[in-house]
Amino acid sequence: MKAAVVRAFGEPLVIEERTDPRPGPGQVRVRVEASGLCHTDIHAAHGDWPVRPVPPFVPGHEGVGLVEELGEGVTHLAVGDRVAVPWLGWACGRCEHCLSGWETLCESQINTGYGCDGGYAEKMLAWADFAQPVPEGVSPFDAAPLTCAGVTTYKALKVAQVRPTQLVAISGVGGLGHLALQYAKIAGATVAAIDVTDDKLALAGELGADILIDARKEDVAGVLKQHGGAHAAIALAVNEPAFAAANAGLRRGGKLVMVAMPAHGTINVPIFETVLNGTSVIGSIVGTRQDLAEVFRLHAAGRTRVVHETRPLETVNESIAEVLRGQVTARIVFDLGAGR
Ligand code: NAD
Ligand code: ZN
Ligand code: ZN
Repeated sequence: MKAAVVRAFGEPLVIEERTDPRPGPGQVRVRVEASGLCHTDIHAAHGDWPVRPVPPFVPGHEGVGLVEELGEGVTHLAVGDRVAVPWLGWACGRCEHCLSGWETLCESQINTGYGCDGGYAEKMLAWADFAQPVPEGVSPFDAAPLTCAGVTTYKALKVAQVRPTQLVAISGVGGLGHLALQYAKIAGATVAAIDVTDDKLALAGELGADILIDARKEDVAGVLKQHGGAHAAIALAVNEPAFAAANAGLRRGGKLVMVAMPAHGTINVPIFETVLNGTSVIGSIVGTRQDLAEVFRLHAAGRTRVVHETRPLETVNESIAEVLRGQVTARIVFDLGAGR
């Protein structure tokens, strides 16, 4: 099988021919059809974060495909089922976090495309209990971006406890942001979309954003404040000043939800304003299996639109470069099933 492999941090990925992996107990082998390129895969390939993967590894945590072999003890999936293999590849199911509905905080978790090989490959392994069934009528190319970009932003909106009529700022209308915007609209919010490219701002307008803010030319916090300040700001831009601007644009009681993770990122949170204004800063990491099931259900019901461009896996390095230059409209999805 073919796979795109990170051999060393910061080096181009190498397309390799590998032997098909064999599923262990509780696992399945998936014949990947579609695999999304999340900005996290770029952080992984660059070794951007304090906890690093160990090369060589195959990135990708938006892999979607068909189960083709069951490991020992797997009874609830069948060969031919379409599943998605998200970032939360495995969690213990026994700890305080797992038992309280916060499996995404499990300290023993294994992350797909980071702690084990991921979806930039024709075949991949998944733990059956964490492989999410994709409902009938959802194409693998839509399911792929929903598997991380969708579930992560759906969860961020839940964490922000957004209610109808509230003002929600979406900072960064990329892969995550174009879906965040739609979930905020579904929650009944008024949405201010912020980006630094004309194309992304145009897309935000098409997807129903009420206020467009061009961070190259406008004072983001000032514009948000003109509208009374944001009840919630979802930070999705890989840019530290964008976090500070979103925080400064909150209204009293507002919540900054941190989702993007710029390399070595930090922000200054002014204590005086945070105390006086009663604002919160919250971190949000992907979403649970239940969150992903809801994301798929919403999409199957026709409530969301996934904007993606499909490409062969061989374009992986140029695709990464385009994401970094901000030239990709929403998501790139690798087509692993082409020619089969
Ligand atoms: P992306 O590159 O597709 O999107 C980023 C967007 O931010 C782009 O549209 C870009 O034009 C815009 N942007 C850049 N500078 C900006 C600025 N100053 N102001 C406003 N917008 C600006 O990336 P993505 O795949 O959507 O991922 C975004 C981030 O989220 C990454 O850091 C990724 O690692 C992280 N992420 C976190 C989680 C989580 O669970 N917390 C999950 C998935 C991704
Ligand atoms: Zn991701
Ligand atoms: Zn656990």
